[in-house]
This record gives sequence, C-alpha cells and structure tokens, in this order.
Amino acid sequence: MKTYCISLLVATIAMVSCQNKNYYFMEDFPKVEKIDSHYHIYTDSENSVEQAQKDNFRLLNINTYSGGCERVVEAHQWLKSLKQNYHETTEFTATFCLEGWDEPGWVENTIAWIDQCVANGAIAVKVWKNIGMEFRDKDSLLIMIDDSQFDPVFQHLAEKGIPLVGHLGEPKNCWLPLEEMTTKNDSNYFANNPQYHMYLHPEYPSYDEQMAARDRMLEKHPDLIFIGCHLASLEWSVDEMAAFIDRFPNASMDMAARMGQLFYQTFENREKVRDFFINYQDRLMYGTDIIDRGQEKEAFQNRLHQTWLNDWEYLVTDNKMTSSLIDGEFRGLKLPKEVVDKIYAANVKKWYGF
Ligand SMILES: [Zn+2]
Repeated sequence: MKTYCISLLVATIAMVSCQNKNYYFMEDFPKVEKIDSHYHIYTDSENSVEQAQKDNFRLLNINTYSGGCERVVEAHQWLKSLKQNYHETTEFTATFCLEGWDEPGWVENTIAWIDQCVANGAIAVKVWKNIGMEFRDKDSLLIMIDDSQFDPVFQHLAEKGIPLVGHLGEPKNCWLPLEEMTTKNDSNYFANNPQYHMYLHPEYPSYDEQMAARDRMLEKHPDLIFIGCHLASLEWSVDEMAAFIDRFPNASMDMAARMGQLFYQTFENREKVRDFFINYQDRLMYGTDIIDRGQEKEAFQNRLHQTWLNDWEYLVTDNKMTSSLIDGEFRGLKLPKEVVDKIYAANVKKWYGF
C-alpha cells in the first residue's frame, strides 16, 4: 500500500511539473523577451527606455500625425536618435501629414518623406483616426482612408514591403452615450475628448462606415501588410476580430489600450476569449499605447511597470483579477508558453520585419 501511494505521488508530481512546463508564471516576467509593440515617446527623456531595459521589454515607438506636422518632424528626430542610442531596445514607425492635400505634388512629397524616414530607420508607417474624423478637402468633404489619392502611397508601401499601421475609426463605444459604454477607459477618454465622441456628432460617418472604408482600402491593396491598432477597432467582439483576420490574410492587430474590452469579454465568456487567442495566435501583438511626454520619472516608471505586470498576469496566469477598467471579477487567460512568446515578441518581429 505504501509503495503504491509513493508511486502515485511521484506520478502526480511528474504530471504537474510537466503541465507547468507549458506555462509561464508571474516570476518569469523579467526573464521572458517582450516587445511593447504600440508605444509613444514624445520627448527626449530616457525614462521609458530605462524601465524597458529593467523589465526586459523592447519598445516600438509609433509616431502619429496628431498635434500638427511640425510635431511629427520633431518626434521623428527624437525617435531616430533614440534608435541610434538604444539600438537594441527601440524601433520606430514613420507617419505622414495631410498638409497640402489639395495641392499638386502631395503624393510625390509624401512618398519622398516616407522613403527618407525609412532610410533613417523607421520600420512602418502609421495612419490615425483624423483620417475619417477630422481632415477635409477643399470641398469640405471628410477625407476617408479609401480616398483614391492615398492609393499610390499605399501601393508604394506594398511594393517596398513596408507595413501600414492603422488606428482607423474608434471603439464602438464611441458611438454610444457615456453611460452605455462597456469600459471605463472609453467613458473617461470620451468624456475628456468630446470632439472625438461620435455619439455627439451624428453628422459624421457611423462606426460601420468607418470600418467599411478601411476594408475597401485593404481590398484595393491585397499585398499591403496591415497592422490594425487597438484590435483593429473591432475590440467589442472576438468574433468580429476573427472574421476580419480571416478575410484579410496580410492583416494582424495589436491590443494596445483595449485590454479593458478583453477583460470585459473575459468576464462574460472567458473560454471564448481564450480560444480566440489560441486560434489566432499568429496574428495578435501585445502593446499598451502608453505615452511618454517626459512626466515625473518615478511615478511614470512605476505606472509603466505596473501596467506591464498586470497585463502579464492576465495573459499568463488564471488568477482571479479585478481592474479599474471594468466592473466585476474575471480570471486570467493562462495562455500556453508558445502563444505568449508569439504575442509578446515573435509576431511583432515577423509582422514589422524587425
Ligand atoms: Zn497610440
């Protein structure tokens, strides 16, 4: 009887330790190679790089056409010199401006600027929601992402194998009143940015029209590598994300600033979200959308570290968790190691061509 019990114990321990080999734990956080694939640095501060090195992260810094064209050029210089100084820790994207849209030469100038940025080390090109929500042409018509004037620019990217990173449209919550939004990150953001709260602007294109313009653009450019920021603005439904990924074989997405929507769906149906991650493990990338504007160093670095650690807990453990982003308790996804390695590093390297 004693021998039987001991063998059973040994077998159980062997089984558990074998299962454990398939998963990471909280203490593995600093050991595993990770990339924050959606990060912003709009300063010459090195606070982000310092924390990234401590936490074994690399940063993909996304330059964005917000706040005017001068800021785009200035940010490009910062990101370029950051890359020169911290070659191992940072990568960056370019972006382009819409100034001069109605004048001859916009296409040629834009392509020349992109080529110059790529020669300086940029690995992709970003477009932002101000296309579709803000910029108008000389006839006061909103410029949408499927406007034919973009075609030669996107064709150029496709030919050169330069990925297009797109934050197009907004989360579906943007078209709802604040009190009906599913996550607090959205209700807080739109309360503070009413100019982008589309529920207040019914004269602008609907959510479906924004998504349809993006999809028409992708259909025109089947060879273009496309990375949809913020779960491609389909964050409200893993079924919608799956359908988008199935439809466009050259598309992937980052989860930056949309963990709240993943928590919300996990709260409702954890297995469904977990299956989505496993089924689409080659098409998803980790990112935060944290913005470094040179804030106070210690508080900023603590917030950065804590955000990375919370997201790690959600993705690798099955701990019971709560979040300031949603109401209610949910359990982490406990994704297998190979899935974690892909979303934190391998996919980013593959899709962006590091
Ligand atoms: Zn961003």
